[in-house]
Amino acid sequence: MFQQHKLVRRVSLWLNHAVGVRLEGRLCCSNTSSPGAEPTLSCAFDLAHYRELLEAAKAGGYRFAFFEGEPAEGDLILRHDVDLSLDAALRLAELEAETGAASTYFLMTGSIFYNLSSPEGERALERLRELGHRVGLHAVYPRLELDERFERVVAWHNPDPGYMRAPIEGALNVMESPWFDPETYRSDSNQHWRSGCPHEELRTGAFPWLHLLTHPEIWVYPGERMGQTMRAMLEEEKERRLDQLADDRIDLS
Ligand SMILES: [Zn+2]
Ligand SMILES: [Zn+2]
Repeated sequence: MFQQHKLVRRVSLWLNHAVGVRLEGRLCCSNTSSPGAEPTLSCAFDLAHYRELLEAAKAGGYRFAFFEGEPAEGDLILRHDVDLSLDAALRLAELEAETGAASTYFLMTGSIFYNLSSPEGERALERLRELGHRVGLHAVYPRLELDERFERVVAWHNPDPGYMRAPIEGALNVMESPWFDPETYRSDSNQHWRSGCPHEELRTGAFPWLHLLTHPEIWVYPGERMGQTMRAMLEEEKERRLDQLADDRIDLS
């Protein structure tokens, strides 16, 4: 299936282009509603479409892989940088486990948004592993607290070009060669796919292998733009914080 990926990719790019013209600039949706066609996918950043991405990858014959050994033909390496919310990470992790997918979650030790050393943080680490996922370190340069909570794999948070792809002693940097290659890498940064949503190429087996970076918060909380999604996250966070205050015997009357 993957031997002809270059040809398939060319055809798929052409199809996307042709359909894109017909849809007058509408991004990503590459299916039409003609009889017998695949159902139209919205390419929304929500859990329904994340599940569709996973199903597309399975239909395309990909297997879920980790940052171990070198990327092989047919590998789909799912990576999640958890910048803001352990709750979002766990919700995505449960969905993945339900669909038979496994990922590597990169967690921060010094986040201002969550505390990995709190009971909630410890439960999150435990649950991610129970679900069959791996846990790497999402580090802020140059601080590397690569303790026993993490596999020996690091993803820098908002890295500068100077060290982004540099090897790390005793650990794998997910952006070093051969793990990073623009042809086999997609990221959803700030709710924007720079090279388009990969679901169609996954479904047709167009990538020889893929390193797919997604941020759980973007998919779990509703919003058509990053600002809306972040505000939705904060609204949920507020409710959670009120519950925590009540649990801590704070008088909220
Ligand atoms: Zn899509
Ligand atoms: Zn990050």
